[in-house]
Amino acid sequence: MSKIIIVGAGPTGITLAWLLTQAGIAVTLIEAAPDFARTFRGEGLMPSGLDALEQMGLLPLAPDIPHTCLDGWEVIINGRSLFQVKEPFSSSEKPCTLISQPHFLESVLTKLLEYENFQFLSGQPVRDLIKDENQRVVGINLDQNHQIYADLVIGADGRNSLMRQKAGLFLKKSTNTIDILWFQLNADSVAQAENIFYSIVQDQSAFGIFRSSLGNLHIALAIAKETKNNWKQINWQKQLIAIAPNWLTKILKNKSTQLSKPLLLSVQVGHCPQWHKPGIMILGDAAHPMSPIRAQGINMALRDALVASNYLIPQFLGNINHQSLDQALSNIEAERKPEIIKIQKLQQAEIAQAEKLRHSQLLRSLVCNFAPIISPAIRWSWIHRQKQMRQGTTTVKKIVT
Ligand SMILES: Cc1cc2nc3c(=O)[nH]c(=O)nc-3n(C[C@H](O)[C@H](O)[C@H](O)COP(=O)(O)OP(=O)(O)OC[C@H]3O[C@@H](n4cnc5c(N)ncnc54)[C@H](O)[C@@H]3O)c2cc1C
Repeated sequence: MSKIIIVGAGPTGITLAWLLTQAGIAVTLIEAAPDFARTFRGEGLMPSGLDALEQMGLLPLAPDIPHTCLDGWEVIINGRSLFQVKEPFSSSEKPCTLISQPHFLESVLTKLLEYENFQFLSGQPVRDLIKDENQRVVGINLDQNHQIYADLVIGADGRNSLMRQKAGLFLKKSTNTIDILWFQLNADSVAQAENIFYSIVQDQSAFGIFRSSLGNLHIALAIAKETKNNWKQINWQKQLIAIAPNWLTKILKNKSTQLSKPLLLSVQVGHCPQWHKPGIMILGDAAHPMSPIRAQGINMALRDALVASNYLIPQFLGNINHQSLDQALSNIEAERKPEIIKIQKLQQAEIAQAEKLRHSQLLRSLVCNFAPIISPAIRWSWIHRQKQMRQGTTTVKKIVT
C-alpha cells in the first residue's frame, strides 16, 4: 500500500495526518517528544486558522480543549491608551481564539488513533533520510536498526528542521533583532473581566499581555538579541513593575502573586526558496519559521496542511507516479509561498513600527501628546493592516475529501 511518513506532530503534522488518514491513505506520524506537554506552545488562532479548522471538521473545538476568545485589542504608548478595537472586527468573522495547543494536538491524535490506516510513533526522533541510487527520498531512519520506507516523506519538524537539512534544502533567514521573554502569572492573580490583548510600548520596552487559554496571564517582552547573554541576571519582577500599566503593577506587587521565571523564546524567521526534493516536502515552520507577531504560525501551518491535502490525496488514490507526485509537491509550494512571504513582510512591518517607537523618545511624546487628534486615523490604519494577517492573503479551500 502507498504510504506517507510525516515527521513531527505539531499543528502542521497532526492536521495533515488527519486530512490524509481520513481520505484512506496509509500515514505514519513520527514525533520526537514522548508527549505534547511543552513549557510553551503558541496558542493564538486568527479567523484564517479557525476557518481552516472548520474546513477540516475540527470545529467546534472538542469540549476537552481549553480555549478562550479575545474580547479586543488595545495599544498603549507610555501609559496612554491610543485606541481599542473589539473582537471580532466584523460580524462575518470568528473572534481571535486562544487554544491550549497540547490539548488540541492530543484531541486530534485521539481521533486519528481510531483509524487502521494510521500509525503513531512517539518519543522517537527521526535521525536521517533514506535515499535511493537516484537520490530520491524513499524513507527515514529512526536508528541503525529501524528504517521505515514510504512513497513520500513530509518534514513537519519545526523551525530547526533536521529533515530540511538532510534533504539539502536551504533556509533563507530574515533579519530579526528580537527574542521574546515569556512570563506567566498564576490564574488567581488575574482579576481582569475582559480578555484584552494589550500591545504596550513603555519607554524603551515593548510587550504584549493577554490571558491564556488556561486562564493565566501571559506577558511577552521583546528583548534585543544582544540582551540574550545576560537576561538571567536581571530582576524581571522589578523591571516589569517599572513598565507595567497600573492594574498589572498592583498584581505584580501583591506578595501572593506568582510570576514564573522567564522563558527565553528564540525567534527565528525566514523561508526556504525551495520546499521539496524528489520524495520529500517540508511544510509549516520547517519551510517558513514564523515570527510570533500577531500569532501567524499555527494559522499558516493549518493552511499549509489543507492545501497539501488537496494535491496529495489524488496522487495516493491510485498507483504512484513519481513525476506526477513531484509536480504536486511543486504545486503545493507555488500555492503557499506567496502568502507566507506576504505575511512575513506584514509581521516585519509591525515589528519595525514598534521598534521605531521604542527607540525614539520624541516619537513616543508626539504620539502621546497628539493622541486625541491622531488616534482615529492610527486606529483605522491598524485595523486595515491587520485584515490580511487575520484572514490570510489568499483563498484556502478544501477541494478534495
Ligand atoms: C514566542 C513564540 C510565540 C508564538 N505564538 C504563536 C501564537 O500565539 N499563534 C500562532 O499561530 N503561532 C505562534 N507561534 C508560532 C508557532 O508556534 C509555529 O509557527 C507553529 O507551531 C508551527 O507548527 P509546526 O507544526 O510547523 O512546527 P512545531 O509546532 O515546531 O512542531 C514540530 C514538531 O516536530 C517535532 N520534531 C522535531 N524534530 C523532530 C525529529 N527529528 N523527529 C521527529 N519529530 C521531530 C517537534 O518535537 C515538534 O512537536 C509562536 C512562535 C514563537 C517563537
